[in-house]
Amino acid sequence: MTTLGDRLDHVLGVKAAESLADAFDMHTVEDLLRHYPARYATQGQPLTEEQPEEGAHITVVGRVVKAELRPMRQRRGELLKVELDAGSSRPVEITFFNGRKVSYLVKQGVRAMMSGTVHYWRPDRWNLSHPSYLIMPEAGESVENLTSVRGSGSLRGLAESAKGAGGVDVSFFEREYIPVYPATAKVQSWDLLACVRQVLDQLDPIDDPLPRDIRDDRGLMAISDALRLIHLPEHKSDIEQARERLRFDEALALQLVLAERRHDAEDRSARPCPPRTDGIAAAFGQRLPFELTAGQRKVIAEISGDLSRDHPMHRLLQGEVGSGKTVVALHAMLQVVDAGQQCALLAPTEVLAAQHYRSLRGMLGDLGAAGELGAADNATKVVLVTGSMSAGAKKAALLDAVTGEAGIVIGTHALIQDAVEFYDLGMVIVDEQHRFGVEQRDALRAKAKDGVSPHLLVMTATPIPRTIAMTTLGDLETSTLTELPRGRSPITTRVVPAKMHPAWVDRAWERIREEVEAGRQAYVVCSRIGDEPDAAAGGKGKGRKAKADEEKEEPTTHAAVDVFETLSSGPLSDLRVGLLHGRLPSDEKDGVMRAFNDDEIDVLVCTTVVEVGVDVPNATVMVIVDADRFGVSQLHQLRGRIGRGKHPGLCLLITETSPMGGAMARLEAVAGTLDGFELSVLDLRQRREGDVLGSAQSGTARSLRLLSLLDDLEVITAAQQLAREVVDSDPGLRDHPGLATMMHAAVDAERLEYLAKS
Ligand code: ADP
Ligand code: MG
Repeated sequence: MTTLGDRLDHVLGVKAAESLADAFDMHTVEDLLRHYPARYATQGQPLTEEQPEEGAHITVVGRVVKAELRPMRQRRGELLKVELDAGSSRPVEITFFNGRKVSYLVKQGVRAMMSGTVHYWRPDRWNLSHPSYLIMPEAGESVENLTSVRGSGSLRGLAESAKGAGGVDVSFFEREYIPVYPATAKVQSWDLLACVRQVLDQLDPIDDPLPRDIRDDRGLMAISDALRLIHLPEHKSDIEQARERLRFDEALALQLVLAERRHDAEDRSARPCPPRTDGIAAAFGQRLPFELTAGQRKVIAEISGDLSRDHPMHRLLQGEVGSGKTVVALHAMLQVVDAGQQCALLAPTEVLAAQHYRSLRGMLGDLGAAGELGAADNATKVVLVTGSMSAGAKKAALLDAVTGEAGIVIGTHALIQDAVEFYDLGMVIVDEQHRFGVEQRDALRAKAKDGVSPHLLVMTATPIPRTIAMTTLGDLETSTLTELPRGRSPITTRVVPAKMHPAWVDRAWERIREEVEAGRQAYVVCSRIGDEPDAAAGGKGKGRKAKADEEKEEPTTHAAVDVFETLSSGPLSDLRVGLLHGRLPSDEKDGVMRAFNDDEIDVLVCTTVVEVGVDVPNATVMVIVDADRFGVSQLHQLRGRIGRGKHPGLCLLITETSPMGGAMARLEAVAGTLDGFELSVLDLRQRREGDVLGSAQSGTARSLRLLSLLDDLEVITAAQQLAREVVDSDPGLRDHPGLATMMHAAVDAERLEYLAKS
């Protein structure tokens, strides 16, 4: 008999186990059973996706409405062109190469199941080429009559494998619901089904991690039933109930992790940093060059209150790009410095860390000049630590951190390396949180003095929907800056379809020239630096590709180094054009950024190094080249670099993508709204779709297979409530071993890496 933890090679044999391991990284019975069907083929029911993705491996069931032999153009032999009515508005088009042979079985009027790869030969038309197929019995047709399997490829293999002593067991295919799995060309849906059936036949009853009373309370089915019925449902309600149970488990596992974290946090203590009227925070407030918005004042007060307690603050500050989070952060840092402690400010990139350093020094003036001539009496010292600093400069900065000389230490990930020590770390601020993982936050927090935790403030311009926040950041309180400071200018965004209107691209460069002539500056953002390996490969593959029957244009993107060359020697040759990308040495990067800041560069050709936080109010145009290569939220972040001064901003999204496709729709959506919240929901939705359709699921995605962080608010709320109850009464889950196992399995998922890949 078999249990969830058993190795697949013991149950299925080495060969089958190896192919599952290669294709899906599956090793145990549980891995296999947790690979849920993406959908169910129902007899004659509509396809669920009318427009499947290019390259997706799909299975359709239906009746052949047309089967025609045609001579091939290039070679001898015949193609069989088939149309299969699978219930969608238009029949599915299928092509077989060895047409004559197939035509004896795949005839007009038969019912068949076909499994193959989607290929678009026109933007709105797709087909399956040479799929594997299986002729299905008619309803009521006696199974015993079928002495041989009629079909080909893996479907035939599967049916053969179901051959028993009494003949061919195709009865399985008469089920109302046939599971269709995320599959690869090597391990097809049917191979997976065969393995699942074999495993389920031998599976022992499973100890349910959810106690009986909780299940009954919530009307959830037992895990044994759920794992069986999700694969082999008899009725529609089986699918719904199985999903409900498994979805609840996913939500509960995540919420248990968060409830444990919350419980831990409640036990921790922090040193209070109450506001002082005679400190540098107060002095700083007096000399701000602008008036704080009401929102900024409110958030500063919230944070100030948190910092006064002997519990560590755990706060998330959300605010649109340009809403003025930095000054709020600085105010908080000064309050901590006033209490005699240090602050660490983490930025996602060196460019941004360096910029924070410059702007904090600028805002603080003599208040931040400790150790220098002309410093204010109670001044503090601000230092920058980055990975690529010269050894000497870095050593000096590290020394300032460990002696406590520096009140504010700014850096990138380098800050959380072990070598950085603080004298007395009181607060950690993480800017643009969506770039930082939970472990990184924890690692930095661990740098505080024994026993007490530093306060934590996480800032992000990517608004996080409530469900996501509850799941990924359930241990944080939230503040939101909703208004932009006065004097912000509107940004207009336009899509420039380069294929359809090549002249519009020239117009884009002209717009840059006009703005520069009016005294403004511009960004030109590219999706890659140049000289990447894939760029070289593109040329080589060409010859072979051109010969292929149905040629597919390899999409090409423009490298920053090339665009820089082209612009500075062509359309913008009389302007001062600069180049900034991540592979430049760090002092050069700094130099370019400073020159752009000081208006010594008119046009900055760059990669996404400018994505977050860069603040040059005089820049008014941004041209994004190959805009379809960027995510929705990323585009929104990028354009947030303009419209920061008194002049209106213009963002041009150049793309060569087809005007019909999904990429264009995404760009139109970005052009259509400035609401970051709306866009981030759109972004997550699309990324999640991608996860569901993708074939090789990572271990991380696996733990969120059924739960939608966007839509399942109710389930997440219920799971959160239960998790908190359980953890409050049994911290450590010693009396709930099943739940403890579930929670540990989910710890990986807590990273939610797909959220981090923006
Ligand atoms: P973000 O929230 O995107 O990090 P920043 O903190 O970089 O935004 O602020 C963007 C710009 O707005 C900075 O130049 C900052 O000095 C300015 N700013 C911040 N608050 C105000 C305000 N209340 N009034 C006017 N300008 C402000
Ligand atoms: Mg910022």
